[in-house]
Amino acid sequence: MRGGPGFTGYPLDRADSLRKDLEGFNAALNDWRGRVLALSGLDPALSPEGALIWNSMADAPIEAEFILLGFEEERPHFAMLNGEGIGGGPMRSPAVWRALSTLPAPEAAIYGAARSLLGWHDTHRFCARCGGSTRLFRAGWGRRCNACEAEHFPRIDPVVIMLAEYDGKALVGRQATFPPGNYSALAGFVEPGESIEEAVRRELLEESGVTCGPVRYVTSQPWPFGGAQLMIACIADALSPDITIDVDEIEDAMWVSRDEVKAALAGDPAAPFRAPPPFAIAHSLLRHWVGD
Ligand SMILES: [Zn+2]
Repeated sequence: MRGGPGFTGYPLDRADSLRKDLEGFNAALNDWRGRVLALSGLDPALSPEGALIWNSMADAPIEAEFILLGFEEERPHFAMLNGEGIGGGPMRSPAVWRALSTLPAPEAAIYGAARSLLGWHDTHRFCARCGGSTRLFRAGWGRRCNACEAEHFPRIDPVVIMLAEYDGKALVGRQATFPPGNYSALAGFVEPGESIEEAVRRELLEESGVTCGPVRYVTSQPWPFGGAQLMIACIADALSPDITIDVDEIEDAMWVSRDEVKAALAGDPAAPFRAPPPFAIAHSLLRHWVGD
């Protein structure tokens, strides 16, 4: 596989030791070299060259709170919570989709982590146990309740995304909301009490009616839209090619050959479908399946 999936390759030192070291964290906050990520709501603010913009910590509002994203050499990097709540919804906007096509991979990884953390803070200002207000702790990698002292940590939702494979062909599907012609790997949330393998088999059966046996793990990716998901990419051996679609979940599913997937990945207009964009793990999974 060429490079890692999108949003992987985080380039900063996460400096976990500073999360328990308030003095060290405060020293980082006051370091004149400190930089804070520029955002527009949850969307990235981009330079004309399509890179992230970093502002000086010296110019940050005094009342803001900060998440320590990590260090590049000795220079601390932060994301800012301005206390006003975050504009925009949790889902991706067309603007962020365009931005991701130009962002260098390490910067996309930083942006993804910042987006997931900021979104989590914005929706966890009150304690899930007692309803009291919460405050940031652990350098922004957690919140603590002001009333009952319960500790809350950023939530990550595991999602399986997979190709079923049968007789040299792979199963791809499309949701009604996809742009015309786009197909991708099927996907779904892992449920409580379920292993990755069980989730893969259940989702394939529910959405496409395809019964599968052995499941192989391929790769994973943090996905910062709709919260903070961990996408777990797998390939499952189908026991039969028969498809029965759940129309509430997907609009269509079909078996495609390696040559057809290669054509889709190459952007060939004659391909039977359009492949997901390079920063999506389904793209990495399809590349892996064709042996790229
Ligand atoms: Zn509480």
